[in-house]
Amino acid sequence: MDYQQILDNIYRKVQPLVGVGQQADYIPALAMVDPDQMGMSLETLEGERFAVGDSETRFSIQSISKVFALAMALSIEGEDLWRRVGREPSGSTFNSMVLLEVEHGKPRNPFINAGAIVVADLLLERLNNPDRDYIHFVRRLAGNDSIAYNPIVAESERSQGYLNAAIANLLKYHHNINGDIEQVLKFYFLMCSVEMSCGELAHAFLAFADHRRPFSYNGINLTSSQVKRMNAIMQTCGFYDEAGEFSYLVGLPGKSGVGGGIAAFCPQRYGVAVWSPRLNKKGNSVIGMKALELLTTDTEESIF
Ligand code: GLN
Repeated sequence: MDYQQILDNIYRKVQPLVGVGQQADYIPALAMVDPDQMGMSLETLEGERFAVGDSETRFSIQSISKVFALAMALSIEGEDLWRRVGREPSGSTFNSMVLLEVEHGKPRNPFINAGAIVVADLLLERLNNPDRDYIHFVRRLAGNDSIAYNPIVAESERSQGYLNAAIANLLKYHHNINGDIEQVLKFYFLMCSVEMSCGELAHAFLAFADHRRPFSYNGINLTSSQVKRMNAIMQTCGFYDEAGEFSYLVGLPGKSGVGGGIAAFCPQRYGVAVWSPRLNKKGNSVIGMKALELLTTDTEESIF
């Protein structure tokens, strides 16, 4: 498979979409990013790397961080985790509170904000040094020790984080947060603020691409069955209320973030990441969705 040629073609084919969509601006620091950048990286299980565009530029991974947080929580808590968070697609926006009220404070899944805030609470409770342990785990997964939080982005989000604060309060009311709300939100925003490049994300997501390889990174261990189960949640819940559309058009498990990144993988084949800040109405990168759709069409490889 000539992945480099396929990526070059994708880069050419998405050019008409440059300028389409709106970058996230509810986090003030994200509104300052040049919205017309685009990068894409693919790494095979054999370790061959292919890239195009701004693939080495680091960007705010935002909700992609929820995958790493879930891996840690599953490793620490096992199946008990599901007492506090569900594993069904929500069919509503990532920051919706509607179901949370109706379902008495048990979030639908760990990839919507409410679910990830519960996961953040659990990690704060269980880890000795959550800030350090989380970033060390991500660095190890991505194979790069210089990956870091961006405290300016985290603080910028916290300063305007009224909706997430409302979600956290509702969770606390229903006894699904044990810690102090301010601390939990601070840690949640910090995890969202991690900056990584497409190349680093593609490498990190390779860890999920072969469940028979040992998953053991910085003391976080998942069994082969746990890796497969995480992948199922990425497939069904990874793209907010566009998970069905992503499955239809792309057919890979993955996770998006409002920074414009999408990380995904093709089981037994590759990890892939694409980034372009302009988003569609559902909060997914316009160019990112198109690039991955073209990838699975042109390679004729997807989970289906
Ligand atoms: N930090 C963002 C928020 O909580 C993450 C959302 C996202 O990437 N979908 O709103």
